[in-house]
Amino acid sequence: MKPSPFEISRPGTLDAAREALRDEAHGTKVISGGQSLGPMLNLRLARPSRLVDVTGLPGLAEIRKTETHVEIGAAVTHARIEDGEVPDPIPGMLRHVAAGIAYRAVRNRGTIGGSLCHADPAADWVTAMIALDAVLVVRGGGGAREIPMSGFMLGAYRTAMKDDEILTTVRIPRYSDQARWGYYKICRKVGEFADAIAAFVADPERRTCRVVFGSTSGAPFVSTELARQIATTGAAVPLDAVKSVLRDSGLNLSEVKIHQLAIAHSRAVTEALSDA
Ligand SMILES: Cc1cc2nc3c(=O)[nH]c(=O)nc-3n(C[C@H](O)[C@H](O)[C@H](O)COP(=O)(O)OP(=O)(O)OC[C@H]3O[C@@H](n4cnc5c(N)ncnc54)[C@H](O)[C@@H]3O)c2cc1C
Repeated sequence: MKPSPFEISRPGTLDAAREALRDEAHGTKVISGGQSLGPMLNLRLARPSRLVDVTGLPGLAEIRKTETHVEIGAAVTHARIEDGEVPDPIPGMLRHVAAGIAYRAVRNRGTIGGSLCHADPAADWVTAMIALDAVLVVRGGGGAREIPMSGFMLGAYRTAMKDDEILTTVRIPRYSDQARWGYYKICRKVGEFADAIAAFVADPERRTCRVVFGSTSGAPFVSTELARQIATTGAAVPLDAVKSVLRDSGLNLSEVKIHQLAIAHSRAVTEALSDA
């Protein structure tokens, strides 16, 4: 199938891009790497008559390291992160997550911002960025605002962004040398979306311990209960207890999914604590 006809513009400024997005008569949509939107256009699941390409906007492909944070422009590709162009907020985690997304051709074009805005429950960055306590900077008619990643994804393919807003920056806190992380995803084949994802990030200096499950049916599930238990005992929680937490999560997960998530979680935590 081919997409419905559309025009594409490549504005040179954020203001011009936002102006184009306000043009509701044209059913306008942002496009970044096109790796999720492209297939949707081809299948005619999306039929915008105008696309606004944000990859050339000032700042969107930039990477910055400050005293306290690492800032990644929304249009930075998975491949650039995989290749180590982004300074690590916590050693090795971003490169590991990026390298596990699809295959290199997708990673060459797909962007971190596009992935977060698309908000696919099985996507990697939505889970990883919640685990890392990232904050997203978006620009709309009222100027810039910050949305903590924990409140960004509202459900499958739904975010807290307004239609005329553009995600510009992903801001990740820098973790201490004592920080530990684990990230594990279960896929049937390399390059496929995950059946289950688990992320674990702990930093005693920042007094942070986060347990996140991805590839549930909606937004990633954050378990404060498991995080509390791991932070208190310094050890992984037994598999059956992890499964009980998932059963009580209210997520209506199948037993197969619970098993996959629990295994992914155990491996992520073991990985993180084994080199502590
Ligand atoms: C075969 C295949 C396998 C894949 N496997 C995985 C995988 O294992 N894990 C994974 O995480 N992902 C996977 N993906 C998805 C891939 O990571 C995409 O790159 C990503 O989901 C979307 O990024 P994009 O830059 O291509 O966004 P686009 O496709 O251009 O846009 C996606 C959506 O986000 C919106 N958008 C994009 N940028 C912005 C912005 N700056 N501000 C506001 N809205 C914006 C668009 O309007 C659109 O609705 C896979 C994709 C393919 C084709």
